[in-house]
Amino acid sequence: MKLILLGPPGAGKGTQAKTLVDEYGIPQISTGDILRAAVKEGTEMGLKAKAFMDAGGLVPDEVVIGIVRDRLQHDDCAKGFILDGFPRTVPQADALQSTLSGLQKELDLVISLAVDGEALVERLAGRRACGSCGRGYHVSYEPPKKSDVCDVCGAALVQRADDQEETIRKRLAVYDEQTAPLIAYYRGCGLLRELDGMKPIDEVRTRISDLLKAV
Ligand code: AMP
Repeated sequence: MKLILLGPPGAGKGTQAKTLVDEYGIPQISTGDILRAAVKEGTEMGLKAKAFMDAGGLVPDEVVIGIVRDRLQHDDCAKGFILDGFPRTVPQADALQSTLSGLQKELDLVISLAVDGEALVERLAGRRACGSCGRGYHVSYEPPKKSDVCDVCGAALVQRADDQEETIRKRLAVYDEQTAPLIAYYRGCGLLRELDGMKPIDEVRTRISDLLKAV
């Protein structure tokens, strides 16, 4: 299964991708996660990317295209992959197309998750994660038992630097301007399926499974 999950920040792409990883035995390729790891490690790429990420903008195409081109050649992508947060621009989508044709592979499906703007701000602003084990929480929808402490490992919860309201609004504007055109791009290729990402997580999950079974 070679799948793209498309949608604005906070639409639930990462949440859904994680459940599909186990079911299909294919990796989730999140450019956001890869970039955050590079920032944490202080690599040259991480240092370059950090300023764009903190400002809520996009990291330059050539950087993320290079990351994905390398990642798709790993053995664990032989059976497929779930792209989460890539592509985010038309040049990235074009580069993905040519990388995949070079590998003699084709995308099976692009699933777009739609969520309205104010709901996204609320989802993202309330998002927290354990700084140690990475378990995710939401201050209103899935709070930890003890405020700001992970239920699983007891470490402190942290908020992503780019989940501050002002940066969230910038990220959503960037999505509308640069990423939303990919909906028409993939519709034109006949690969797009659209789902209502406002529905509960389990319901979205079931709808995704139904779409994947039909491939
Ligand atoms: P995410 O975790 O997907 O919300 O990504 C966090 C941040 O990483 C984004 O706001 C961008 O700054 C950067 N980023 C992630 N994926 C991409 C991409 N495909 N193209 C450009 N920047 C990206």
